[in-house]
Amino acid sequence: MKLIRIPNEREPVCLIELRKVTNDYSHLQGDCMLETKSTLSTLQMDSCAYCERKLNSVFIEHYIPRSAGTGLEFDNLLAVCSGNYYIDKLKGDKIDHCDTKKGNTRLSLDPRNQCHIDTLTYTEDATLISTHLQFQHDIDVNLNLNFYELKRERQDAFNEVDLEYIVGEAYRNFPLKERLQRLIIMAERGEFEFSAYIKFRVVARLSYIIDSEKQ
Ligand SMILES: [Zn+2]
Repeated sequence: MKLIRIPNEREPVCLIELRKVTNDYSHLQGDCMLETKSTLSTLQMDSCAYCERKLNSVFIEHYIPRSAGTGLEFDNLLAVCSGNYYIDKLKGDKIDHCDTKKGNTRLSLDPRNQCHIDTLTYTEDATLISTHLQFQHDIDVNLNLNFYELKRERQDAFNEVDLEYIVGEAYRNFPLKERLQRLIIMAERGEFEFSAYIKFRVVARLSYIIDSEKQ
């Protein structure tokens, strides 16, 4: 999970106009719905606000649930994935995660809050962990962000980046440390699927090199 910034000035005009008339989310339809989804997705670098999977289809999530009376407040909306991980699509075998798992639960962990994001890190096997107990409960239970297949996807995403940018030929003219520093900047911009995990792995690699040089 990485920091999500949704500046108010990016709110689509159609949404501002609609809210003057109603705060009922069911009235957000057609072109205005498409524009709202597209704006949120662009601001989030086309990745899910919770699991960071690439958004093939964009779904709108109310961070504070609609059951609490929210509707069209732009600063409460996030772009999320379908929340379905299909083990076997034909049989309908799936694992629920993100807002599909969360439902009307009110989270403590907020991806828009830098202080919350700063409590997060990963273990060796790509498990997302927080130093804050309630946030960990949101991660493991309310959002289900540590099931085996998702952790595998995080690791695969890093391995792809590793192959292309670290051990690959494309950037071999740059010294390794420089390649890693460039990758950290790209990950901070959210240029990869699972950017937060990729940044974690690249920072660890860079620290290892810097520490070895000191010895
Ligand atoms: Zn997701």
